[in-house]
Amino acid sequence: KEPIPKELVQRRRFLKRQKDKDLFETVEEVFDMSTQMAVYELMRRGVIGELLGTISAGKEARVFCAKDPEGNDIAVKIYLTSTAEFRKSIRKYIIGDPRFEQIANRGLRRLIYAWARKEFRNLKRMMQAGIRVPKPIAVYKNVLVMEFIGEGCRRAPLLVELAKPKNQLDVEEWTKIFNTVYDYMVKMYQKAKLVHADLNEYNIMYWKEEPVIIDVSQAVPISHPYADEFLRHDIQQIRRFFSSVGVEVPSFAEMYAKITGL
Ligand code: ATP
Ligand code: MN
Repeated sequence: KEPIPKELVQRRRFLKRQKDKDLFETVEEVFDMSTQMAVYELMRRGVIGELLGTISAGKEARVFCAKDPEGNDIAVKIYLTSTAEFRKSIRKYIIGDPRFEQIANRGLRRLIYAWARKEFRNLKRMMQAGIRVPKPIAVYKNVLVMEFIGEGCRRAPLLVELAKPKNQLDVEEWTKIFNTVYDYMVKMYQKAKLVHADLNEYNIMYWKEEPVIIDVSQAVPISHPYADEFLRHDIQQIRRFFSSVGVEVPSFAEMYAKITGL
């Protein structure tokens, strides 16, 4: 007698357990089978209880609110394994060649798994350096699970949302936030030995009166050939944003010297 494939058993179990049918349908529509299996595996391991609503649907990743089996909020970031641009650029070589399609997809998938693992490790390293980031919980294939920044599946605001269209904080509060972010930049360079490389008001949340750095998949070690270029860009982005909300920011040279310890 043929054994039932492991995938099918897992899938049936998942279907039985899944309460929110609508959400299941979205997940099934958007993600390929291997991504669905990765989510079920994290459920089987007791990391994810149930997936709830979408928090963000970016080009490269989707972020969901979810519950762990105890009912605590968690954030689940799922990297898309089939980015539209990539597919478009190589489509003409691949169409009609199922063998090649499989091989190409496998290569891309592995790269994306490495990317998800890198974000997990970067979060861990930053946390250990004393920087407030979402606490990483698990990573499996293209699925990253981390602390949810917010409450009741309502995410905390990004700094940009507190500044535009209406400035919601006074200059004292902004100055306090700037000083904390500045301190994070020093710790990131000197303790974590990383450069964020996409640091701006869109990748910093504000929760319980503290800035929280997010989106660290692209962060690189300070030994990276472009680390210095990325750092200079990060410093300028942070100076631009905080001066736009009225903070008296130090000069570029002063910040660069303090962060790098030169
Ligand atoms: P984008 O292209 O929109 O920047 P991204 O792929 O870079 O998306 P992130 O920046 O990590 O992904 O996350 C996208 C959005 O999801 C964030 O702007 C934030 O609103 C929300 N988000 C990310 N991580 C968390 C978290 N741990 N808790 C709550 N919300 C989060
Ligand atoms: Mn982002």
